[in-house]
Amino acid sequence: MSDYDVDLFVIGGGSGGVRAARIAAQHGARVMLAEEYRLGGTCVIRGCVPKKLLVYASRFRGEFEDAAGFGWTLAQPSFDWSTLIANKDKEIARLEAAYTATLTKAGVAIVKSRATLADAHTVQLANGERVRAAYILISTGGTPSMGDQIPGIEHAISSNEAFHLPELPRRVLIQGGGYIAVEFAGIFSGLGAQVTLVYRGENILRGFDDDVRQHVRADMEKHGVKVVTGCKIAALKRNGAHLAAHLTGGSQIAADCAMFAVGRLPNIGKLGVQAAGIAIAKNGGISVDEYSRTSVANIYAVGDVTNRVNLTPVAIREGHAFADTVFGGKPTAVDHTNVPTAVFSDPEVGAVGLTEGQARLHCVQTDIYKAMFRPLRATLSGRDTTVLLKLVVDGHSGRVVGCHMVGERAAEMAQLAAIAIKMRATKADFDATMALHPTTAEELVTMRTKSASYARAAAE
Ligand code: NDP
Repeated sequence: MSDYDVDLFVIGGGSGGVRAARIAAQHGARVMLAEEYRLGGTCVIRGCVPKKLLVYASRFRGEFEDAAGFGWTLAQPSFDWSTLIANKDKEIARLEAAYTATLTKAGVAIVKSRATLADAHTVQLANGERVRAAYILISTGGTPSMGDQIPGIEHAISSNEAFHLPELPRRVLIQGGGYIAVEFAGIFSGLGAQVTLVYRGENILRGFDDDVRQHVRADMEKHGVKVVTGCKIAALKRNGAHLAAHLTGGSQIAADCAMFAVGRLPNIGKLGVQAAGIAIAKNGGISVDEYSRTSVANIYAVGDVTNRVNLTPVAIREGHAFADTVFGGKPTAVDHTNVPTAVFSDPEVGAVGLTEGQARLHCVQTDIYKAMFRPLRATLSGRDTTVLLKLVVDGHSGRVVGCHMVGERAAEMAQLAAIAIKMRATKADFDATMALHPTTAEELVTMRTKSASYARAAAE
């Protein structure tokens, strides 16, 4: 490897790239990492972390409202967007500094520059400098898509800008029905904006269990978010400080801010993938094998740029596995099954494993257990909300193959349920576990009556 300037060049300092660089350096590799924007990537800078901080902020409204039923009298609470954004920015800067310190301590050379591939072993920096590397890791992440080129699209923002709005808009229009759209609907609504969510399909959160989708939508609507389905924003017009959105069905919605959350695209453009001869997969991401190796033997790719499972912990795991495989002498493939996931919406969603629909295609027999109940806290707060817990069981083996939850702390519950599901726990194992009372999660081990049972339809 000594013919090269470095053993590993990492392009992109997000979750996957940072982990890969650090572990490779700990395995003794000479590592250089280029990041053109801020170290930490989408998750830290304009994704999971700032989003969760905004989610916390938005939930205080409900807390204040609920407090009255428990005897508290509060002065009329007021909210200041600029304080929230300034405090959030301070925390993000702290995290970015911590990432920089960790990498530096591990011996990784950090270059604050755009980097492109000149050929399979050469990376070119923005200043023209070229670095020869034995291995290259592409971890450039993704970027928000703005969808179709509709008239007035320049008036719309993506989640990137949502984190830096100068003030809280009074009326927010969101296009999309996935993670980001649903999460920001909860954030803006909780902070006091009037929110309308426009989704092209029949119901939001496609890919999640159907009961979850219905439950979330109904609860969102109860909490004041207007959900318009079966249409899209066809055009946006600016009238002074306001926007008019024309929907495909012919109706119009007035708003102060239009946010599009219609998916993310792998950051591949102008990276030089053609120069290096790297193949692109059908889903638009860089094509990789189970060890994250691209079609070029010394070039690997991890995280959202591969468009596999676009979640931070997955990118981290892929980055770590890559470093162990190439520099640690321990070939490691990442298992992408049973990845727990959460939507930090209002109400929150936590899920792991197969949905009912998926199980009914895979399992000879699928048993469904469901509990829907008013959480204890709501009895005194008076909040109009219900929790949904659902277990999907392979009726043949008895294994719990899916767990889907909507309600307070659903994400925390999903993380723990994921351990049981990963360990192939059966429904009998769940039932043998003593309940912890009074909790929401106890219902997961006390559901005794099947709500439905389905035999797989015979193949045609
Ligand atoms: P998603 O893929 O989750 O959702 C995209 C949404 O936009 C879908 O509802 C989709 O509709 C709709 N859509 C796509 N194209 C168009 C179009 N041209 N016109 C109108 N609507 C359109 O993407 P997000 O942007 O919400 O999030 C990107 C990714 O980031 C997520 O998939 C996830 O991997 C990650 N993420 C994870 C979070 C978490 O873990 N909590 C939080 C935020 C993001 P349809 O359903 O019909 O395809």
